[in-house]
Amino acid sequence: MSADLEAFDAYRARLLARLTPIEPTRLPLERAAGMTLAAPVEARTPLPGFANAAMDGYAVRREDAEPGARLALTGEIAAGQEHLPLVEPGTTVRIMTGAPMPDGADAVVPVEQADEAGETVVIAARPAAAAHVRAAGEDLAVGARALEPGTHLGAAEVALAAAAGAGAVLVRRRPRVAVLSTGDELVPAGAPLRGGQIVDSNGPSLAAAAAAAGAEPVAQPAVPDDAQALRAAFTAAAADADVLVTTGGVSAGRYDLVQHVLAELGDVGTTTVAMQPGKPQAFGLLDGTPCFGLPGNPVSALISFEALVRPALLRLTGRADLARPNVTARVAATLPGGKERLRFVLARLSEGEQGTEVAPLGTQGSHRLASAAGADAYVVVPRGVPRCEPDELVDAWLLSGDGWQDGQHVAYAWQSGRQARPLAVRSLR
Ligand code: AMP
Ligand code: MG
Repeated sequence: MSADLEAFDAYRARLLARLTPIEPTRLPLERAAGMTLAAPVEARTPLPGFANAAMDGYAVRREDAEPGARLALTGEIAAGQEHLPLVEPGTTVRIMTGAPMPDGADAVVPVEQADEAGETVVIAARPAAAAHVRAAGEDLAVGARALEPGTHLGAAEVALAAAAGAGAVLVRRRPRVAVLSTGDELVPAGAPLRGGQIVDSNGPSLAAAAAAAGAEPVAQPAVPDDAQALRAAFTAAAADADVLVTTGGVSAGRYDLVQHVLAELGDVGTTTVAMQPGKPQAFGLLDGTPCFGLPGNPVSALISFEALVRPALLRLTGRADLARPNVTARVAATLPGGKERLRFVLARLSEGEQGTEVAPLGTQGSHRLASAAGADAYVVVPRGVPRCEPDELVDAWLLSGDGWQDGQHVAYAWQSGRQARPLAVRSLR
């Protein structure tokens, strides 16, 4: 690798190390969905809180419930009922799913396995021990940790926190991300274009990426390549937001002023990083606000956001897992690599005869948005690997979906600072 390129992993680690998570706040559970827990949630009661029926049926004494036994029906228990009848020998009571198990009974015979006629219930088959009874505390014991700090509160986690008795939780709020495009040539989408002008696609693109990462984007109008205008816009945005993301103006062109203005305003440095696309990168703190100066080419900006800004936003919220979930995929069409830099290849997954397959999306170029739209994954081809050929197995990082694989939640590399697996092709033939 040439001396002026910084290794991607080292650069990202250096950048993440400079971030301080947002101060936690206590929020009602329903407002905390989508945020990250800053303190554990412990079960205030056992879960379930009491032994209860898992089926609609009859609460029985198992020793009485021989096939063909006729039990006297003496009562009924509905969900939520407090005062319960006793199940005496030779008797049974009707019981509904979720209703507390009465004293005396130790199993439930489902309605489908019994015949109720008048005051009598005929049992078809003897229930197994504790059949269709949910034991108190079988899901969680009282005081047990239901959720760890650093957990993202998705629907299932919100459900568990609620069931565990947490009406409010300590979370880190969504970071406010100011997205600022820079360039004399930029006009907003939908506006008429004069000669040489182009539409600012990075603004809406990175605002969408920030929202998808659980942050709150604060869209700003594009700023011209003018030091004074850039200074004013950056200062105001950094004061208002938790993170500042700019695009454009970090390369070697005459009008690439962003890096200079950021360096002048704060402790921000510009580096060439061994990644493709996205080589020139600025990062630092502007009055304590983390500030990313991403390159202007639309695909470079998006990949830079994905590879650098997204993990940073998750780190600010205290998220334990910074990585996307991934799957092993068979290369279906050659993926380009590179000599000196990690190559991020936007790709599409499909199900082939031998499992998941991955193919690049059209010709990849840092300006080619038409080859980026529709990507549902990306592959990171390691430095020095010129290409990944068909049939090789690679890690495909999932852009969509939320970490479920083979029915399990998938937790990968980047857990709490430790890199469990390299962000790289897993196995090349
Ligand atoms: P720069 O990084 O400023 O040298 O810009 C590199 C390329 O990206 C140029 O072709 C710019 O016109 C283009 N570009 C810069 N900013 C944007 C933007 N916000 N939206 C779309 N293209 C952009
Ligand atoms: Mg420019």
